[in-house]
Amino acid sequence: MNLFTTERLAGLLPRIRTIVTNDILPLESAYLQGSFRVVEPALKSLREQVKQQGLWAPHLPEHDGGLGLTLTEFGQVSEELGRSPLGHYVFNCQAPDIGNMELLHQFATPKQRECWLEPLMRGDIRSCFSMTEPEFAGSNPVNMATTAVHDGDDYVINGHKWFTSSADGAAFAIVMAVTNPEAPPHKRASMIIVPVNTPGFHLVRNIRIMGEEGDSYASHAEISYENCRVPASNLIGEEGKGFELAQLRLGPGRIHHCMRFVGICERAFDMMCSYAVKRELAPGKPLAGKQIIQDWIAESRAEIDAARLMVLHTAHGIDANGAPAMRQQISTIKFFVANVLHRVVDRAIQVHGALGITDDTVLSYWYRHERGARIYDGADEVHKSSLARHILKGYGFSSNE
Ligand SMILES: Cc1cc2nc3c(=O)[nH]c(=O)nc-3n(C[C@H](O)[C@H](O)[C@H](O)COP(=O)(O)OP(=O)(O)OC[C@H]3O[C@@H](n4cnc5c(N)ncnc54)[C@H](O)[C@@H]3O)c2cc1C
Repeated sequence: MNLFTTERLAGLLPRIRTIVTNDILPLESAYLQGSFRVVEPALKSLREQVKQQGLWAPHLPEHDGGLGLTLTEFGQVSEELGRSPLGHYVFNCQAPDIGNMELLHQFATPKQRECWLEPLMRGDIRSCFSMTEPEFAGSNPVNMATTAVHDGDDYVINGHKWFTSSADGAAFAIVMAVTNPEAPPHKRASMIIVPVNTPGFHLVRNIRIMGEEGDSYASHAEISYENCRVPASNLIGEEGKGFELAQLRLGPGRIHHCMRFVGICERAFDMMCSYAVKRELAPGKPLAGKQIIQDWIAESRAEIDAARLMVLHTAHGIDANGAPAMRQQISTIKFFVANVLHRVVDRAIQVHGALGITDDTVLSYWYRHERGARIYDGADEVHKSSLARHILKGYGFSSNE
């Protein structure tokens, strides 16, 4: 229990924890030693069980088949699910689908809702989000070359994207493309739904990440869009509003990610402590007796507790006053928690010695895949700079940077 636990959460969390512990963790080894496709059939049947138990898509409103949780409540569910790399997928609240669902929920036309949102919410299809381009700094996303040009009742899209996560096997991409090149930079781009079977949609490759190509949901694709023609009715919201919509998508998204990071930290912490008492340097002399290991454990405990409180406080503020009111706090948690994650996983690996860098535990998976946590959804430096500039403004500092 913590300050932010509600009565309904107190009932939900133990049920979710049981599924993660009993049904999801046992699948991890096959995933780590094999691929996502190897475990997909088992995940599919677990997804059905989760639906039957009324725990499906906890982030969605009840009338859409979800649990109707507040962001603060869902954050705590996200922590539980974050204990395994497979947790969110089993409950259909995995990125990038969760962000796309939330976006479409607010802005889809009735037809878009029927064709894309409803199958996504049911878990019948997956989706991806295609914004970053290899040729341009993603930290300044207004700089992009992908265009969507009107031609009759269609848009014709041309461009080159990468790090379109989970494109392999997705049914559609939400593509950010310039539709209004003459407008001010933040009003130039729009979001457009592109089904992946559209002629001209080419998945070039799944990009190898630290030696691992990934597959299916667990992948990041390079994509080229060559004269990809889609109906103009695939536009989400209004033309030129792409960056505004992207901001809306990111606020709650950072709570989801940060609480997932806290879940990873808790699991890594648990593994670190369990191993420290079990591994003996000499008979009766476990690692846990060494002061430096105790220091790592104490530092990790303090950092994880601080991280959780900061994120839940931010989520609570978003629930009460909306994401724009919590902008600085959202930036703060993004870099702070990503770095706590980095340190805790690194310490847990160090305590495990050589075992820590093998794929016999999940730690090395997180070390590889969550290094990106300090880069995606805004690199650390971007968030730090934004926060510091906001603070310094109060001291009379102004900058055009
Ligand atoms: C695992 C992962 C998944 C991703 N998934 C998606 C996805 O699904 N869809 C999608 O469109 N994109 C996705 N991305 C891309 C992500 O959004 C970009 O990587 C991110 O925006 C940073 O852009 P960049 O990689 O071009 O780095 P750049 O913008 O080139 O920045 C490089 C480095 O420069 C530094 N830097 C940048 N700006 C500043 C600054 N203002 N001050 C000081 N230093 C600075 C930072 O250290 C940064 O890491 C994903 C990335 C990762 C790693």
